[in-house]
Amino acid sequence: MRARIYPLAIGKVIKHTLSNLEREVAGLLIGKYLKKKDVLEIWDAVTGAQRASSGFVYLDENTIAAAADWVLRNRPGLYIVGWYHSHPGFSLFLSAIDIETQKRYQMMFPKAVALVVDPVDYARTRRLRDLKFKVFRINRKGKVVQVRTTIGIHRGKVLESTIQGMELVELKYLGAPRRVEEIEIYEESSLPPSLSSVIKKFKEKLARS
Ligand SMILES: [Zn+2]
Repeated sequence: MRARIYPLAIGKVIKHTLSNLEREVAGLLIGKYLKKKDVLEIWDAVTGAQRASSGFVYLDENTIAAAADWVLRNRPGLYIVGWYHSHPGFSLFLSAIDIETQKRYQMMFPKAVALVVDPVDYARTRRLRDLKFKVFRINRKGKVVQVRTTIGIHRGKVLESTIQGMELVELKYLGAPRRVEEIEIYEESSLPPSLSSVIKKFKEKLARS
């Protein structure tokens, strides 16, 4: 499997990882899997409540459920296709904790990938060559493998993912422009559904597609 990430999605991820160079930050990737080409397309990224230190980051289960539910209701044809997190100042790999996290994502979303970003050099130089990110997943043998990733170039999809992704920026930043940790994906103040119920719906949707 290869991955293709569209500009707005990687832009949002980079922007989020640059927002905190002391702690890890994390979020979810939204996109679709193209079966015939064996390509995972990443169209968008969202974030929400999380716990983090300099050595690990953990996305709140309600955040995952709320995001998955939001995608189900608002993005026909798109799914949660993985997660991203930053390794500020250390190299690009999956730690032991990350591997456990990634296994859980792959159980929930079969094609899930892990995008890891180190924003520190880029924060200093603002040169594109210092922008460090890699995409990983766990193969059938349980080993971590790198997923070859390119930036999306399909014109129609660049436009569509940008228009859709900008909508989610506004939703994401509603009411709390600077405090990424406290952003709610929900439009209303309703409680997010349970993760297991959303995952079930997700799998039904995937089975139909
Ligand atoms: Zn990590």
